[in-house]
Amino acid sequence: MAPRPKKYWGQHFLMDHHLARQMVAAIDAPPPTLVIEIGPGKGILTRYLLDTPCQYVGVEIDPELADYLRQTFQAFPNFHLLEADFLSLDLRSLFEQYSGHTPVVIGNIPYNITGPILFKLFQHYRELHQAILMVQKEVARRITASPGSKDFGILAIFSQLYARVRYLWTVPAGRFFPRPQVDSAVVQFHFRKDATATIANEALFQRLVKTAFQQRRKMLKNSLSLLFPKEVLNKLPFDLNLRPEQVPLSDWIQLANQLHQQTPEREGQ
Ligand code: SAH
Repeated sequence: MAPRPKKYWGQHFLMDHHLARQMVAAIDAPPPTLVIEIGPGKGILTRYLLDTPCQYVGVEIDPELADYLRQTFQAFPNFHLLEADFLSLDLRSLFEQYSGHTPVVIGNIPYNITGPILFKLFQHYRELHQAILMVQKEVARRITASPGSKDFGILAIFSQLYARVRYLWTVPAGRFFPRPQVDSAVVQFHFRKDATATIANEALFQRLVKTAFQQRRKMLKNSLSLLFPKEVLNKLPFDLNLRPEQVPLSDWIQLANQLHQQTPEREGQ
């Protein structure tokens, strides 16, 4: 018998097979691929993934669902399952194990750990080719937001730094069982191997963006005075009267590089 959904692991099972096939078809990576699925659940995506020429590695935290998946899919030679927490998984050793394969991540992911999952993927932007993720619609909007919109923030900056992102489809709450409170959406990430090539000091860049957005109503000259002395800020050829949501990614990089030039010895310690 199929296991019952458990709330604490964010289990909302997708019931729409057409959409499952569309998500799998959104994979666009040179074969052979390594497809890592986060939280396969009862395997609605898994069965379509296994039909593609890939090595499949599912990562499922729930022992009951893991058993169910092993029983259902054991006959497929390309099926592998790790009964594990994706957040503690050593992705680098998985990439090494399947070297020669293009790594792709897919998943209808548990909403309560969306942020940690995304930042884990961003750490591997050099190795990962692509990710196709179902997230809350509101989060999908924040990932793909443009400067000037109220959704533009830390998530947009880091998503769009490490990847080219596309909002693919809105998915109504009724397509899941049990039905979640909110609608979902599928987002596609194409990771950029050269993402940080123009950033002189990544630690400074990250600190800059985080500090500015922690006080998003304030002008940059005020929020950044927490990090840098006034004399340094006054010397910058950058308009610090802006609020953070008005500043596009390329300008954040410029600003971080200007700050790095002014204070190279203070950073990266
Ligand atoms: N992909 C399935 C299930 C989505 S529900 C579908 O579309 O129907 C989210 C799934 O993630 C559940 O199977 C849940 O058990 C699993 N999960 C939750 N936290 C996890 C974690 N930290 N690591 C791996 N899987 C997790």
